[in-house]
Amino acid sequence: SKGAALVAAVAQRLASRRKQVDETLFPFQMSQEQLHLVKSRMRADLEAGLKNKNPSTIKMLPSFVYHTPDGTERGKYLALDLGGTNFRALLVNFKKGLHQNTRLYHKIYTVPMEIMQGTGEELFDHLAQCVSDFLDYMGMKNAHLPAGFTFSFPCEQTAIDTGTLLTWTKGFKATDCEGHDVVNMLREAIKRRNVTAVVNDTVGTMMSCAYEDPECEVGLIAGTGTNVCYMEDQRDADAQRMCINTEWGGLGDDGSLNDIITPYDAEVDQNSLHPGKQRFEKLTSGMYLGEIVRQVLLDLTRGGLLFRGHVTEALKTPGIFETKYLSQIESDRLALLQVRSILQQLGLDSNCDDSIIVKEVCGAVSRRAAQLVGAGIAAVVDKIRENRGLEHLNITVGVDGALYKLHPHFSRVLHDTAKVLAPLCNVSFLPSEEGSGKGAALITAVAKQKQQM
Ligand code: BGC
Ligand code: MG
Repeated sequence: SKGAALVAAVAQRLASRRKQVDETLFPFQMSQEQLHLVKSRMRADLEAGLKNKNPSTIKMLPSFVYHTPDGTERGKYLALDLGGTNFRALLVNFKKGLHQNTRLYHKIYTVPMEIMQGTGEELFDHLAQCVSDFLDYMGMKNAHLPAGFTFSFPCEQTAIDTGTLLTWTKGFKATDCEGHDVVNMLREAIKRRNVTAVVNDTVGTMMSCAYEDPECEVGLIAGTGTNVCYMEDQRDADAQRMCINTEWGGLGDDGSLNDIITPYDAEVDQNSLHPGKQRFEKLTSGMYLGEIVRQVLLDLTRGGLLFRGHVTEALKTPGIFETKYLSQIESDRLALLQVRSILQQLGLDSNCDDSIIVKEVCGAVSRRAAQLVGAGIAAVVDKIRENRGLEHLNITVGVDGALYKLHPHFSRVLHDTAKVLAPLCNVSFLPSEEGSGKGAALITAVAKQKQQM
């Protein structure tokens, strides 16, 4: 009959749509074998970076932090934190070495895009204004507290209080900063000389978590960007242990990840502020996941598989899928109707089938990201285990970043992957509280003690 023919036609159309969506998402599926490969490439480049092989994709920067906190840190410090999206000023007070007694006050300042991508002078003047506002707010204008600067970009350090910016990453591109000492730039801007330490956010995170858990010897950021630091046992006779800021986001910058990079990833890279750089970061971090999703949705829409084939202005807008929306869309507690209402807020008119597909795309992209970070962590902890000649290693990874903390599945997939790929390590993950701020203050406390000795 006619009715049966119609039903069959609809069913066939659905099946073909299903098949095409599956085919589009297939390249995002990582096999165990591929994940093992990523782990071993990460491991090889960590070693190459340590040996200073040129060019190494992973920079392996010394942090001049020699040990995790011992609980004797005391006093009041200012922590200034320039991250991926915000600037934060914090006042941290360590009392009697009891962490329950750590007092913390902070204020968050947004950094407008014109400033992220303006001149270096404008950027540092802006930071100085925020600092002055914060000191006013705290009623501390005249207290000259030692300050620690958490600066979440790759810096070449020759001491705890010097750091030459090697290259901007993420959404920053201010002029006249690369190749310059960011501590000097900050000191000049705030017209005071007591900036005592410059700290990568991974190092701050590791330190703040190690304050609670002495087994914490790795710091991980999975947020706007991604990076890892860890305590390296230098094997030469008298060399001390030192925390190394790996800058692992650069894995793949020599093409070593090309076999897993999809055309959607390539598009995101090309449209980014720093094309060709930070390829691992671009597969795994908050600033880019939403853009990968958007590229896939654009392709599906052009193929008539989504949004009735209408490519709207909203869909053409870079940056609409922020991490927080990805997290909401993938939440298992949300009904599809709620997914549709989030899409509506973003200016995307969807029907029920559309919302199912969008959720699947988000899932494929974020799952791959978590697996890749898990493979990276497996490489790092196995390296530490082998460095120490251990058959088995218990270790804690301190973690910060919105992707890790707010996404409904990212952390679980990351944990599971690390467990499978590093079976000889027992890895615990500890979310940091106020990692960058507290960590920078701890490092400043140690640096200050040394200066006074
Ligand atoms: C930077 C790292 C930083 C990471 C997380 C990356 O883009 O290069 O220095 O630790 O983002 O914020
Ligand atoms: Mg941060």
